[in-house]
Amino acid sequence: MKVLKNISVLKKAINNISSLGFVPTMGGLHNGHISLIKESKKKCKKTIVSIYINPKQFNNKKDFSNYPRNLNKDLNLLKKINPDYVFLPTTKEMYKNNNKKKIILMKSEKILCAKMRKGHFEGVLDIMQRFIKLIKPKYIFMGEKDFQQLYLIKKFIKNRYKSKIYSCKTIRDKNYIALSTRNFLLSKKDLNIVGKISRILKNARQKIKETNSPFLYLNILKKKLVKKFKIKIDYLELCNDHNLQESNPKKKYRIMIAFHIKKVRLIDNF
Ligand code: AMP
Repeated sequence: MKVLKNISVLKKAINNISSLGFVPTMGGLHNGHISLIKESKKKCKKTIVSIYINPKQFNNKKDFSNYPRNLNKDLNLLKKINPDYVFLPTTKEMYKNNNKKKIILMKSEKILCAKMRKGHFEGVLDIMQRFIKLIKPKYIFMGEKDFQQLYLIKKFIKNRYKSKIYSCKTIRDKNYIALSTRNFLLSKKDLNIVGKISRILKNARQKIKETNSPFLYLNILKKKLVKKFKIKIDYLELCNDHNLQESNPKKKYRIMIAFHIKKVRLIDNF
């Protein structure tokens, strides 16, 4: 595992690799990230993992400063999986050049997290574009846990770059909690609550199948969750898998949720 700390070292290391898999992360690594790296190692000859907390995608300064960081722990974990390269860029280098074209979301895309976190996905797409131009990966491995991110990045790169997105299933713990770096900010008690909410939402799919009024059911469920667990829900919606618009559950759909427990904002989909 070679640790690459700047762009010139990166370029030399990955020059001429035709089957390169890329796993972008913000560190705070857990088994969700590890599953993406394992997929990449299976599918590609070489694998590069980046650890970079992109300030541009944080719409809240406090959220950025509180985001869990533990590079030594991350590197020790990575050594066990042994990807070929770990890229640790600096903000100065990543943003040296201005992107000529400003990234603007379409009106139909300003939903869910895009509506609640102004500028977030514009920041995500900007950094992804910078990574793709530098690394030129054959495949980029990303998690379904961040389903809206996956959808927007796939759409963004489709007619612009050769790289293909490979989507990977959400990894959960034994309590059905989706692994997330932000979980490191929660107490055991709060994690317990997250587990309960996750199971309720998993079971909600069956309930939605049985009811004639799924939207009413979901609205009532939302109120119950807020009251019972003292959480704040940004959204709880049924979305079409295909374009994330509000969906009739007869089509392929996902229950998308974003909620705040204490001061930590979590997202998931079922
Ligand atoms: P992050 O470090 O949170 O930006 O995530 C980096 C990548 O890991 C993204 O593609 C995420 O969707 C993915 N990821 C995060 N959590 C999970 C999980 N529990 N299961 C699978 N992939 C995940």
